[in-house]
Amino acid sequence: MKKTLILICLVVLFLGISAQTNQQGGSVTDRSYFITHTRQELISKLTDLPCGIKSDDQVKVILDKLKKYLDEFKPSAEFEDDIYARAANLQALKSVMQGGYGIGSVLIDKDGRIIEEAHNSQIQKSRSDLHAEMTLMTKFEDSRHSKKYMHMYVYKPGLTVFSSAEPCPMCLIRISTAGADTKYCTPGPEDGMASRIDFLPPDWKAMAMKYSVELGDCSPVMQKISHLLFYSFLLDNRGPDKQDSDSH
Ligand SMILES: [Zn+2]
Repeated sequence: MKKTLILICLVVLFLGISAQTNQQGGSVTDRSYFITHTRQELISKLTDLPCGIKSDDQVKVILDKLKKYLDEFKPSAEFEDDIYARAANLQALKSVMQGGYGIGSVLIDKDGRIIEEAHNSQIQKSRSDLHAEMTLMTKFEDSRHSKKYMHMYVYKPGLTVFSSAEPCPMCLIRISTAGADTKYCTPGPEDGMASRIDFLPPDWKAMAMKYSVELGDCSPVMQKISHLLFYSFLLDNRGPDKQDSDSH
C-alpha cells in the first residue's frame, strides 16, 4: 500500500514537472488559442504577448512594439524553425504596416539559408493573387539567382516555402506545382489547406503529397505572433470586406 502511494506520488510529480517544462519551454499552446474572430479577442491576445502592448494603444503603437520585439528576438536552438518564423513574421508585419494583410513567407534552400523573402500585397497593389507565397515564388522565379535552383518551372529538390500562416488552396497548389516543400508557423485550425489535403481532387492531392507539408518547429511566441498578424485585419477592419468585424 505504501509502495503504491509512493508510486502514485512519483507519477504525479513527474506529470507536474512535464507540464511545467511544457509551459516554460512552451512547446504546447492550446489550439483553441489560434481561433480569433473579434477585435476584442485580438487585442486581448496582443496584450498578453511579452511585447508591452496595452489595450488602449493605437494601431501604430501596437505595430511598433511588435517590430521592436521581433527585431530583438533571438531564436533559440530549442525551436529549429524560429529563425524562419522570425523572418516570416517580420515580412508579415511589414505588410500590416503598409496597410496590407499580415502574412509573410521566406524561401529556404537545402542548406537552411533564406534565399527570398516576401509578404502579402493584395491590398497595397490591388491584386487578388498577391498572397505572400505567390509573391515570394514569382519574385524568386523572376530573379537571376533562381536559375541554379530550377529546371524550367520546377524547383530542384531541397527548397522549402516557409510561411507565417498555413497556405491557402491557391498557394498550396502553386507550391506543389513548383515542387517545393511547405512549412508554416501557426497551427490555426481555421487557417489553410495544408491540413485539408484530402479534399483536393485526386491528381492534385497526389501532387501535393509528393512533397513535405508540415507545421514548423516554432516557439509558442512566434506561433502566436504569426496568428495575431494573420488576423490583424480585425484591428481596423481593413480589406474590401466592410462587414462588421464581429461577423468574421
Ligand atoms: Zn494563399
